[in-house]
Amino acid sequence: PLSPVYRGRFAPSPTGPLHFGSLVTAVGSYLEARSRGGEWLVRIENLDTTREIPGASEEILNTLHLLGMEWDGSVVFQEQRQEVYHAALSILEKQQLIYRCSCSRKEIADSSVLGIEGPVYPGTCRGRKHEPPFSGAWRLYTNNDLIEFEDEVQGLRQQRIQHDIGDFVICRADGIFAYQLAVVVDDAEQGITHVVRGGDLLNSTPRQIYLQKLLGYSIPSYMHLPVVVNARGEKLSKQTQAAPVDISYPVLQLVKAIRFLGQTPPPEVSESSLRSFWIWAIKNWDRQAIPKNMSLMF
Ligand code: GLU
Repeated sequence: PLSPVYRGRFAPSPTGPLHFGSLVTAVGSYLEARSRGGEWLVRIENLDTTREIPGASEEILNTLHLLGMEWDGSVVFQEQRQEVYHAALSILEKQQLIYRCSCSRKEIADSSVLGIEGPVYPGTCRGRKHEPPFSGAWRLYTNNDLIEFEDEVQGLRQQRIQHDIGDFVICRADGIFAYQLAVVVDDAEQGITHVVRGGDLLNSTPRQIYLQKLLGYSIPSYMHLPVVVNARGEKLSKQTQAAPVDISYPVLQLVKAIRFLGQTPPPEVSESSLRSFWIWAIKNWDRQAIPKNMSLMF
């Protein structure tokens, strides 16, 4: 297929309705794509069906639609893509880039140092022989090569995965593929050229680049937006009881979202129709104005 100049995506997890935090991410990725004449895809990340709230996917899609955010192509559901993830796992297995791990959370916590995202897996199961049939997690062998990328908002980022994260899980012991693997496979398969998402995933990006290199995929460009936090400094989420986006006033919600992203719509934009809002927002989108903070209170 022809590779597009710009193909972005919004990839919500259906753990609840769209709240202000996920709205900001949706709007940021949408405006980046549309202001550059690009495509915008939606992918529902329901890998872990045990965390999925029934009806949440439909609710998220309906909210996007009511907010006037139209996606290209059909919506992709991770739940239906097990074979594709399996194929990627087999490639890694054949190349002996992954190994089985039977460590418990407690064993890992007791034997490891703290990295940037919790305990760094010390490689306990590297080279360990397990008797088949074996049902543990799959971990990826990592190394200390410097992984660096230029984030479009946050600037140059660097990480040494083995030191900062450790060999990470690719497929959990319960058979659920890890986010890191699925997101890389999906972004590659869908031909995503630009990833715009919340800053809470900034530290995941080097792991994804590492996997993209191993699997021979091209590396998209990355832009991480500030994360919306509440007065207690917690990321808005279902766990922190974030309120669903109030769709009785779509334009007001959208104006709030673009203001959060540093845009300065004149007062009349708040009173305009949905259509006029988007025309203004796409025409005046200024990525330089996006705050560089990793999180911002709203
Ligand atoms: N599904 C992830 C989330 O809702 C986003 C993944 C991504 O954009 O890479 O936090």
